[in-house]
Amino acid sequence: MDLIDTLVEKGLRRESPTRDEALAVLATSDDELLDVVAGAGRVRRKWFGRRVKLNYLVNLKSGLCPEDCSYCSQRLGSKAEILKYTWLKPEDASKAAAAGVAGGAKRVCLVASGRGPTDRDIDRVTRTIEAIKEENERVEVCACLGLLSDGQAERLRAAGVDAYNHNLNTSEATYGDITTTHTYADRQETVRLAQGAGLSACSGLIAGMGESDADLVDVVFALRAMDVDSVPVNFLIPFEGTPLAEEWNLTPQRALRILAMVRFVHPDAEVRLAGGREIHLRTLQPLALHLVNSIFLGDYLTSEGQEGKADLDMIADAGFEVEGADTTTLPAHRVRSAAGCGGGTCEPCGDARADDAPEPAADETGAARTDLVAVRRRGAGTDLPPNA
Ligand code: SF4
Repeated sequence: MDLIDTLVEKGLRRESPTRDEALAVLATSDDELLDVVAGAGRVRRKWFGRRVKLNYLVNLKSGLCPEDCSYCSQRLGSKAEILKYTWLKPEDASKAAAAGVAGGAKRVCLVASGRGPTDRDIDRVTRTIEAIKEENERVEVCACLGLLSDGQAERLRAAGVDAYNHNLNTSEATYGDITTTHTYADRQETVRLAQGAGLSACSGLIAGMGESDADLVDVVFALRAMDVDSVPVNFLIPFEGTPLAEEWNLTPQRALRILAMVRFVHPDAEVRLAGGREIHLRTLQPLALHLVNSIFLGDYLTSEGQEGKADLDMIADAGFEVEGADTTTLPAHRVRSAAGCGGGTCEPCGDARADDAPEPAADETGAARTDLVAVRRRGAGTDLPPNA
């Protein structure tokens, strides 16, 4: 395939595809799927070898959010029967984080529901980080606390936070359809505040919310323009009791095409397979390891993932290895230029599809698999051990 050969060459040089080329990846047929995965897999291996970074989520505060993000089970008015609790005590959060580290995670992601932290919340998180670092001095810490105010990113950095997560989620054009209580610009501003404080920016998307291919490409290019270090790709978990409960739009093949497109646009950034992988990729999960270099271990914020041991077995069976604490995730050129250069250029648009291109995938509508959505009932906020 000319398209894939071109994108592999670009990816090996850290160049981005054109917008049309990214759209063409999403339009490839099921007949072409393994060629797409193999091509994006070459780019993945060039920058990350066969390493898989494991990340572990600790939901510090769950539910009861005043914001109205339609995809979120913790939103204002959500009827999803999730765990709801206020801030975990530092020692409880540390215990949950330690389980993730013992399971192989090198980064813990401390997440709290809400519009954004108060300065007292930053104090709490600081104490939590101290407790975590007392147990595991070298663990990477990512905070995800919502919209930041001036000075808060600096305080988090001083507390030992390495990275800040705040997703753009979808394109600027459709952001208002998904959330009304804050804007796309608010989200971009928080990513910039984190970067300005020297935190590694983690920002990604949610696919499967009814968006177009153009929306997906727009958000993925917007993230590239912001030069984020880590791009989590979530696939919508259509929780019953949320406005997007009926949005079962993804097939496993479609999910793989999306991941391949993200890899081509972000050849040397950490691309992380995030929420929804089990329910949308299903038996094709191992193929996604050829595209992403990072996944979450175990459970998600409000839903259960597959068993942590199954994650480890999948990685080993597919011929990949868990990234160790001594290895730096990002390629050296990105670590050195963490404050700025994305290093990529776009080439002029070209005709991305061959004349005799196979028929596009016939039916991209996913079947509703509500049977696969399990609300989290273990780990943080419960008396049961975490899944790690
Ligand atoms: S701000 Fe965060 S926790 Fe609140 S509804 Fe939006 S995504 Fe959910």
